[in-house]
Amino acid sequence: MSKQTSVKLVLLGEAAVGKSSLVLRFVSNDFQENKEPTIGAAFLTQRCTIGTKTIKFEIWDTAGQERFANLAPLYYRNAQAALVVYDITKPASFIKARHWVKELHEQASKNIVIALVGNKYDLLVDPETGDEIEGRRSVSVEEGQALADEEGLLFFETSAKSALNVNEVFTAIGKQIPEE
Ligand code: GDP
Ligand code: MG
Repeated sequence: MSKQTSVKLVLLGEAAVGKSSLVLRFVSNDFQENKEPTIGAAFLTQRCTIGTKTIKFEIWDTAGQERFANLAPLYYRNAQAALVVYDITKPASFIKARHWVKELHEQASKNIVIALVGNKYDLLVDPETGDEIEGRRSVSVEEGQALADEEGLLFFETSAKSALNVNEVFTAIGKQIPEE
């Protein structure tokens, strides 16, 4: 019998950066082009095997709208992990991500594992060559990595649409969660 650990995880980030889409990709391996906005928060679970360890992620997907922002502490207060998501084509969403990281470090559990996630990488990619098109992105890899290094975060660029790095984010978090 391998050990099973439950991990309470919260998603934070500006509205429409793709939080719910990342969860849908991770939980159902699916994507919806016009996903209806989350109201309040949604709860989903997904199991994930890492080596001999089974992790049950208990995922709180929050709404990004300002009117729900004051509810966020309810979800991150006893979270063991957080995904702070921004859209790599939207600089304002990166500024918002910085604020969430600061708030988590001030208010959340001091052992919380945080992943900084720059989503919508597919929007940068030339469908013919598969290469990144120059000038498409608004947040550089260096900016993302610098914030992650300063604040001690995991860092990934993802696409909920193409599935790039989505499982990798959760696996990396799972590896950092201490055994119970
Ligand atoms: P949330 O408000 O952060 O939960 O964002 P949603 O998951 O509701 O996504 C907002 C919009 O962005 C929807 O129309 C999604 O289909 C779209 N979207 C989400 N992730 C991606 C992605 O990786 N690539 C692209 N191109 N669109 C995405
Ligand atoms: Mg949502």
